[in-house]
Amino acid sequence: MKYAEEFRDPKAARALLARIAAVTDEIGATAENPVHIMEICGGHTHAIFRYGLDKLTPPGVEFIHGPGCPVCVLPMARVDECIQLAERPGVIFTTFGDAMRVPGTSRSLMQAKADGCDIRMVYSPLDALELARRNPDREVVFFGLGFETTTPSTALSIQQAAREGLGNFSVFCNHILVPPPIKALLDDPHMILDGFVGPGHVSMVIGIHPYDFIARDYGKPIVVAGFEPLDLLQSVLMVLEQIRDGRAAVENQYARVVPEHGNPVSIAAMADVYEPRPSFEWRGLGEIDASGLRIRARYSAWDAEAKFGIGYAAGARVVPEQEGCACGQVMTGRIKPTACPMFGTGCTPEMPLGALMVSSEGACAAYYQYGGARAVEPAE
Ligand code: SF4
Repeated sequence: MKYAEEFRDPKAARALLARIAAVTDEIGATAENPVHIMEICGGHTHAIFRYGLDKLTPPGVEFIHGPGCPVCVLPMARVDECIQLAERPGVIFTTFGDAMRVPGTSRSLMQAKADGCDIRMVYSPLDALELARRNPDREVVFFGLGFETTTPSTALSIQQAAREGLGNFSVFCNHILVPPPIKALLDDPHMILDGFVGPGHVSMVIGIHPYDFIARDYGKPIVVAGFEPLDLLQSVLMVLEQIRDGRAAVENQYARVVPEHGNPVSIAAMADVYEPRPSFEWRGLGEIDASGLRIRARYSAWDAEAKFGIGYAAGARVVPEQEGCACGQVMTGRIKPTACPMFGTGCTPEMPLGALMVSSEGACAAYYQYGGARAVEPAE
């Protein structure tokens, strides 16, 4: 297949759905005793709801929405620290737009900007670098956020700043890794997970082998998937076929984009600039060992934590979730978004209470946008 439309072909989708139904029957999965498949990536969550795949697949297949939306797992304390940085005189704080509305303890970056902080949205850390070049009398801080997909571009911007000796640029590094939370979820005795749809964009960078432990140590299948409807249906079928056949392997449905061993240039840049933190806090999941990255000492001149004495460098604090927020339970698949008492009433995309309602990749926002909101009576 060559064009996007071909990955949305209804005839091919119907054929795949028939095969999914047949294999689900062979496994003996039913609505009462479903196969639990976690899609790790927020982009997959969005696509599943956008194309109604959760309704098209048989009741014996249940999607669990994993922690793969970087905005959704950002703890409130980190948002508070971003605002503290932005409040410093002379600082221009730069961030991707989707972090602007994530709730902090008392306000979001958007609200802090409205209150007068110099916070600017950028499309790339290179935009922040350019701001630093143009404003030599200001400190430009870039909010490094996201999984292995965005981590290399931040690393390359730090390397470039070092080459240029650009002393007024730094990164507040909150980059996180995909494999450690999967391990944490598999180690959780309350989780029921039968297989995974693996992240496409992250795997483009790291390859498929960082997931080997899922099949080898936990006996669960994982299929790295693309983002079109046929990609996802084919990946679900591949997971189900592994379960039916009693196999557990790492398979690559997205081979047209994901190289087996990832992108060596990105991997080298990440290894040069970052090292794992002993542990890192995830919203809704708590502290997870070696799940976050920090900037290596040789680049400390461009590390906002070291430069401003903030974040984990200052002994990061943990802030409890907002009262009534069930994001942690949704993120670990214990409840569906519509089961949260705040869904569609106290929490909407316009006025999010929890982070899962902020980004379009958040499970609650996807439910709300593509039909879940209809399950909720409008607020008085
Ligand atoms: S509806 Fe809002 S508060 Fe409830 S789980 Fe979703 S994002 Fe969190």
